[in-house]
Amino acid sequence: MPRACTVCIHPERAAIDAALVAGGSLRDIAGQFTLSKSSLERHKADHLPALLVKAAATSETERAGDLLAEARALKARTMKILDRAERVGDLRVALQAIREARGCIDLLKAIHETEELESRLTALEAQLTGIGGSRRWG
Ligand SMILES: [Zn+2]
Repeated sequence: MPRACTVCIHPERAAIDAALVAGGSLRDIAGQFTLSKSSLERHKADHLPALLVKAAATSETERAGDLLAEARALKARTMKILDRAERVGDLRVALQAIREARGCIDLLKAIHETEELESRLTALEAQLTGIGGSRRWG
């Protein structure tokens, strides 16, 4: 009789799967959830692919949206730190916060540009498939 996978029956399976999908190290995840590295390995190889396929089916835009929200939240926090540092006159921390904020803005810009390119690509693809055999372009 096959043994049940200790990861599959783990009460925190969702969190474990998320950590695996995120590419966390097996040793760290095993330590965090008190699992053996070998059972994690087995689970990752035999039981995770279905989840990965599902994750891949999630649209790129959706994931970009998550990233965007995270970058925005990060920027908001950095700005708060900057405000506080300025208020107490901690110039070093203020400077660091400005650098961090600049990094967040770069990230936001990159995400925005990626999203724009993706939507243009989607529009082009729709045009191309819409044309089909009925009408030629150009
Ligand atoms: Zn499993």
